[in-house]
Amino acid sequence: MSAQIIDGKAISEVIRAEIKAEVEEMKAKYGKVPGLATVLVGERKDSQTYVRSKKKACAEVGITSFGYDLPENISQAELLQIVRELNANPEVHGILVQLPLPAHLDEEEILGAISIEKDVDGFHPLNIGRLSMKRREPLFVPCTPRGCIELLDRMHIPIEGKEAVVLGRSNIVGLPVAMLLLHRNATVTICHSRTRDLPNVVRRADILVAAVGRAEMVRGDWVKPGATVIDVGINAVPDPDKPGGHRLVGDVAFDEVKEVAGAITPVPGGVGPMTIAMLLRNTVDSAKRFYGIQ
Ligand code: NDP
Repeated sequence: MSAQIIDGKAISEVIRAEIKAEVEEMKAKYGKVPGLATVLVGERKDSQTYVRSKKKACAEVGITSFGYDLPENISQAELLQIVRELNANPEVHGILVQLPLPAHLDEEEILGAISIEKDVDGFHPLNIGRLSMKRREPLFVPCTPRGCIELLDRMHIPIEGKEAVVLGRSNIVGLPVAMLLLHRNATVTICHSRTRDLPNVVRRADILVAAVGRAEMVRGDWVKPGATVIDVGINAVPDPDKPGGHRLVGDVAFDEVKEVAGAITPVPGGVGPMTIAMLLRNTVDSAKRFYGIQ
């Protein structure tokens, strides 16, 4: 039997509509509007595209965006100064520094300089640290991992007591998603490039989150029948029939795995749209916290 397709695009549209209504209510009742600052350094086309879509998503729900398009050769001190000014700006409730930064900049220092109260990406070491500890609440949960959990919740897929396998241990996806699953009382296994006999480990999963960045690595016979598969991967593979000469696939061989899994996210249209929806969510949560609005 073919798996249920988890439609991240449709779910993210519902979430954006909820956020839009909340922002309108904030404005009407309190005269306050959430604000997100996007900091883009250099001319990378992919980063420009991401920042553009984040600004557009903000505009659609009524969040004010403050765009900083900075030259490639900006110094560490100048960029730090901008981050400090944004930290002090009461109209800015979230600061997003688009990664990767040019090589001459110290990414760790820049991310560490963002006020923990405005760290809507959730990458500040204090937020990640709190996420990793029992009974400590981070102020923000990183957007893609939060989006994965939100998909499970909105699909009413139980997490507690389940075997969860996370493929990948990056700071932005694998590690935080594993922590979130752990907090929700799943039994979590984290796999990485040195894991032995990956297919057999993956086969334990009731819930599989794949975030490795390897096109269609997870095959149909790696997956337990009925498992829920969340595919975070975004990989371009050559396809001469497509306009740009390539198409996007996930880390999961979708056509094979959908015949085995109980539910699966497609790529594109699964986790991707949830990431931006969660960025909007984090920004509104931050503004509400700042203004003391419940
Ligand atoms: P990273 O490259 O930072 O991390 C990849 C992880 O996968 C590492 O932990 C690595 O192990 C592990 N890995 C790599 N190869 C293998 C392998 N052959 N077997 C087992 N484990 C392996 O990637 P990210 O976490 O940043 O991103 C992962 C994917 O998710 C990418 O395709 C990215 O484009 C996508 N992505 C999608 C987002 C969305 O919004 N949908 C947002 C962010 C990312 P080790 O630690 O040992 O090196």
